[in-house]
Amino acid sequence: MINKFLSIQKMIKLLAFLLITTLFSSCHSYAAISSTSFDDVTNGNCTIIDLTYSLNKSNAYWPDPSYAPFKYRTLATLKGNGVFSGAYSTPEHLGTHLDAPNHFEENQPSVDEIELETLIGPAIVIDISDKVENNVDYELTVEDISRWEEANGRIQDRSIILLNTGWGRRWDDYNNYKNADETNKLHFPGYSVKAAGFLIEKRNINGIGIDTLSADYGVSIDFAVHHIINGAGKYILENVTNLDKLPPTGATLIIAPIKIEGGSGGQTRIWAILPPH
Ligand SMILES: [Zn+2]
Repeated sequence: MINKFLSIQKMIKLLAFLLITTLFSSCHSYAAISSTSFDDVTNGNCTIIDLTYSLNKSNAYWPDPSYAPFKYRTLATLKGNGVFSGAYSTPEHLGTHLDAPNHFEENQPSVDEIELETLIGPAIVIDISDKVENNVDYELTVEDISRWEEANGRIQDRSIILLNTGWGRRWDDYNNYKNADETNKLHFPGYSVKAAGFLIEKRNINGIGIDTLSADYGVSIDFAVHHIINGAGKYILENVTNLDKLPPTGATLIIAPIKIEGGSGGQTRIWAILPPH
């Protein structure tokens, strides 16, 4: 009986080891960082960067009349009730959030159905902020991706692509962030249709993200990038912050979207774990 118990214990340990190795070795093979483990994370040897904006009434949301700002109201206070609690309401696509594959395509997973394995993976950070400074309507090109790969190596399988456009500098001013012109067209950068197609067809990614309101650039009316990414069963992260604090490669993301049954997306906490110091 004792032997049997020990062998089960050994098997559990082996399985745990395999899981940890799979999770982390694949994450860091490019940057020659192969030693990050759960122990490194839990012992405090890794810097963890929060890629999430705090939710409040000023958070940016998709500027459609059917949407509304985040609302919070107090239900009970420590002084009056001996306990503090509140209630909130929000559109799914407000603040730092995830677009589930069913956001733009039929017969695709809703936010609660996304496979957990795809919500952990290596972060690939592509910085186009210098190009956006000269052109707010800039779209990431396939050439930009090729240049990134020349400098950093081929995009690893199961990566999450994060586009740093520098747009986060406008976050505190919603009008400046959505940047509508006099005809109400929005102007901010995004992924081009070709770049999205390349990432889906030529690379094996878990999803994409951006530091603006949308993966499609502001003037888009067909949301072609959303259709390509969601049509491939992948998710999109929007209004992601702190991308300028990440290296081009080497960070591991943990993405935790709210689990709304049948939802098209929702508020999402995103951890970026840097390699051990
Ligand atoms: Zn969205």
